[in-house]
Amino acid sequence: MGCLGYCRAGRTTQIFRYGSHSGEEPPISGTRGSGAIFFSRCTLRCVYCQNYPWSQEGSGETCTVEELAGILDALRAEGCHNWNLVSPTSWLPMIVEALKCVRKAGQNLPVVYNTSGFERVETVRAMAGKADVYLTDLRYASSEDAARGSDAAVYVQYARAAVLEMWRQAGPLVVDAAGVAMRGVICRLLILPGLAREACASLEWLAEQIGPKMAVSVMAQYTPTYRAIGQVPWGRVITRAEYDVVCRAVERLGFTEGWIQDFGAAPGGKLAGFNMSPRRKTE
Ligand code: SF4
Repeated sequence: MGCLGYCRAGRTTQIFRYGSHSGEEPPISGTRGSGAIFFSRCTLRCVYCQNYPWSQEGSGETCTVEELAGILDALRAEGCHNWNLVSPTSWLPMIVEALKCVRKAGQNLPVVYNTSGFERVETVRAMAGKADVYLTDLRYASSEDAARGSDAAVYVQYARAAVLEMWRQAGPLVVDAAGVAMRGVICRLLILPGLAREACASLEWLAEQIGPKMAVSVMAQYTPTYRAIGQVPWGRVITRAEYDVVCRAVERLGFTEGWIQDFGAAPGGKLAGFNMSPRRKTE
């Protein structure tokens, strides 16, 4: 007999959707799409969650380790650039087994560990040698806002410790000749309404602790949904002034790697990667 924890995940993996996905940052989507697997459940409770049918309400189909290995194989056969594990944390024991199966069969693609950043550092350590690219997040810089927005007052300390460990393992983003990610860390900063200061504080922390070689992905696509509708501050899109203050922080702190999503990306509901301006150092 087991009992379910906070995320409500059991012992059998649950997947909402999988397939070639072009909605991530350019080196993750590449030209043929990332092989995304959207896992059900989540370790956070964001009031504005766009994925709530599967992250919060548990939509999705169960699958065995063998079936999960079959999905990985199918994504590889379809020509996807990588295995993009979206919100994998709750299901890691089964995912690791499935990865072992496909690798034993001689199949290999870079593994993208796509996370909200709310990870135990021990979990990230355990993924050393199993994850190639970390696509993580620093969503908040204060425990009060993390508690209000995602029911996770400890988010900041966990996400910061996690990103340091990711950087220790994988380091700066490395891409192949076609610009597709092979290894490294990308840190997302989703600008939240009324909380642009949180994104700036996270950028300041990253610059101080890791430096400007960290690839940052500034996301402007916030759209009120789920429990955010009608709630202050969550019930509106971000303003141009909020966007500008975060863009200025990226400049001021000297980040040279990454992307800034265009302002106004939100209404179309487009995901990161479609409307981004690259930030590459120009010599
Ligand atoms: S981290 Fe938050 S926004 Fe992302 S899937 Fe989980 S609950 Fe939803």
